[in-house]
Amino acid sequence: MKAAVLYAPNDLRLEDRPVPAPADDELLLRVGACAICGSDIRTRRHGAGNITGPVTMGHEIAGTVVAVGKAAPGFREGQRVAVAPAVPCGACRYCARGVQTMCDNLRSIGYQFDGGFAEYMIVPPSAIRAGCVNPVPDNLTFAEATLAEPLACAINGQELLNVGLDDVVAIVGAGPLGCMHADVAKIRGARKVILADVNPRRLDLAKPFAADVLIDAASENLEARVLEETGGAGAQVVIVAAPSGKAQEQALALAARQGRISFFGGLPKSNPLISLNANLVHYRELFIMGAYGSKPRHNRLALELLAKGSIHAASLIGMVVPLERILEAMDAVAQGGILKAVVQPDCR
Ligand SMILES: [Zn+2]
Ligand SMILES: [Zn+2]
Repeated sequence: MKAAVLYAPNDLRLEDRPVPAPADDELLLRVGACAICGSDIRTRRHGAGNITGPVTMGHEIAGTVVAVGKAAPGFREGQRVAVAPAVPCGACRYCARGVQTMCDNLRSIGYQFDGGFAEYMIVPPSAIRAGCVNPVPDNLTFAEATLAEPLACAINGQELLNVGLDDVVAIVGAGPLGCMHADVAKIRGARKVILADVNPRRLDLAKPFAADVLIDAASENLEARVLEETGGAGAQVVIVAAPSGKAQEQALALAARQGRISFFGGLPKSNPLISLNANLVHYRELFIMGAYGSKPRHNRLALELLAKGSIHAASLIGMVVPLERILEAMDAVAQGGILKAVVQPDCR
């Protein structure tokens, strides 16, 4: 079978590998689709701390179960499933509290386990035990089902923010996650959703999503526009869905008193420091929080939302390519001309 294997930074190779044989407690999946994530592009270029040897990349995975180990009950051959890549241990103090995103022994498919940029992949037993393998509703394509993974991350972020009826939500960064955040905020009942980006092309792509207001932060004054849209109060919720320290700093000025701010996107490892106006945090009683990944149950919720048609899935998928064209698709995503690209091993 073909697989896209990362050997070292900037050394992603498409190579032939034997189809893996599942152990008794594993599943073998024929990959239906695996979407490219922004983190895949970073990992391809710079590697990742949790990758130690050559590994098949790809963590936004949906496919068909083609072999079920004897000790992997609950699944059948021919079943369509989506696989949540973050595999919690189920035994540490955070797992015990139900906070699997913070698991002490978190491992990930596409990092420590071979991932979905391949024709076949093994689902490890720990992923099965943790509830990471979920049936794909009949009305979803594999490509649509891959969106469950990033969508689950947006759901996790907004659960932490407790977005609700009385909130104006301002989202900075109109990439795929920013667009999904707009949809999720509306589903959760937000009064108004504002979506901003410095790239007009991104804002064009964001038009179909649920944001009520789109702001071009390159040509308009973002702070002034958010105040104008909120009657001078600022937004109750600010989500920074862009890898930008400047945007994180500016988020404070966009927030209402007692506003909740999510640093949803990480910053480059080489430059993670920012400077904040601490007096804004103090006098305005601001809450600043992070968000990292998702829990298994968020992935189930994400599949449900996608199946209901509550998310603008078709507008997210800008390109579907066979495995042979994965590098080209990664470049297209990196250039920002499309929101998501999906690799489908069987597409010609
Ligand atoms: Zn992802
Ligand atoms: Zn754990």
